[in-house]
Amino acid sequence: MTLYRATVVDTPANPFTEEPAAALRVEQDGAVLVRDGVIAARGPYAEVRASYPDEPVEHLTEGLLLPGFVDTHVHYPQVRAMGGLGRPLLDWLHQYALPEEARLAEVSYADAVAVQFLDHLARAGTTSALVFGAHFAPAMDTFFTRAEASGLNITAGLVLGDRLLRDELHTTPERALAESHELIRRWHGRGRLQYAVTPRFSLSSTDALLEVCTELMRPIAGGEAVPVRFTSHINENTAEVAAVAALFPGARDYLDSYDRHGLVTDRSVFAHNVHASDLELTRMAEAGAWAAHCPTSNSALGSGLFPLRRHVEHGVGVALGSDVGAGTGMFVGKEGLQAYFMQQLLGAAGLPLTPVHLLYLATSAGAHALGRQERTGDLSVGKDFDAVWLCPPPGSELATNLAVADDAVDALARVFALGGPADVAQVYAAGRPLHTRRASDDAATRARSGRSESGDSHRPTASHEPTQD
Ligand SMILES: [Zn+2]
Repeated sequence: MTLYRATVVDTPANPFTEEPAAALRVEQDGAVLVRDGVIAARGPYAEVRASYPDEPVEHLTEGLLLPGFVDTHVHYPQVRAMGGLGRPLLDWLHQYALPEEARLAEVSYADAVAVQFLDHLARAGTTSALVFGAHFAPAMDTFFTRAEASGLNITAGLVLGDRLLRDELHTTPERALAESHELIRRWHGRGRLQYAVTPRFSLSSTDALLEVCTELMRPIAGGEAVPVRFTSHINENTAEVAAVAALFPGARDYLDSYDRHGLVTDRSVFAHNVHASDLELTRMAEAGAWAAHCPTSNSALGSGLFPLRRHVEHGVGVALGSDVGAGTGMFVGKEGLQAYFMQQLLGAAGLPLTPVHLLYLATSAGAHALGRQERTGDLSVGKDFDAVWLCPPPGSELATNLAVADDAVDALARVFALGGPADVAQVYAAGRPLHTRRASDDAATRARSGRSESGDSHRPTASHEPTQD
């Protein structure tokens, strides 16, 4: 067992339905006791220490210990396709993203991308993700192999499309069914992995292919105990919405192109939903489907300003996604800040967000969207120890600001305003340390800022300091 001493901050309740102050839980000088990767006790450090006087202690006493971030929409094949600014969605896809996705036909390339992708997730403090996969089954096999080894909580699936992409990305309904079933048998429910049926979007999916998705959502006889999940894109861009309407003349709206195949359920997460109608929001709420809000992507592609207030008023759950590569990096905290900006810019139509809302959107909400709220999303006793220790390098703007923060809410506001992957000092996935910012980096920063090593240690004083990096 290990005892982590830290300022522990999480959101075990929903600030959109309760008072934000009641949704936040803060342990100023707190402790989290971890046994076999699971949180066994938590509370004020003095109390927990008194109960467990012999356990080793890791002092994470500067910065904040938060639940690991949950990214509900991020593309594994696009990790090398970030930064394509200046294009709207469909142009960006064809000029920028899809050519890179086609390269994953080669397994060795896909494997190298998978390793980079999972490493970047961990370095960004993300411990759970709903990952948009590749169009190639061998690329998904190598991805799941790497994901299992990473210890991260990963839900993903083979991406399906049978029209309007690039020829080499197209599948057939028969092939989609066979390859997906094989991947589900092999990977769904194994360790921390779940499978998500993933048509790219209805624009690139015939009704025959969407019917295959319906089939895949049914439990396999004698197969998995937990049903697979579903994700796709929706209502991202007005040109895309118009194209889908033309392709599905019998559908009531974009959501209905999925709904009439039974794909709108409480296991469904739809990315974007920027241009949702009231009818669509009503139907999503009724089904318990979630929206993955990806504000840096929506901003970079000029897709639009997300109607968060309307989602909340209709009762549709919303979590955050980085949507890399259209998004501008994997740090979910940045998505929180951009979500905040968007609501400010919407004026009266916007929903003002507090730092508590941002933490909820970046952690607990995503755990619910993935159906993993019993295991992750906050740091309650009985859950997996999925956590990120945010502790900025000495001399950084965030360090300067955290040092004068009034309280945990003020500190959270400064983390969302100023934080980035460089402030991720340590990440734990089910108790396993995944990413440790190199001590040499901190030493170099200290040297530049003229601070001493001994008087300002930001390293955990651990009895088993992790070495993986
Ligand atoms: Zn996307």
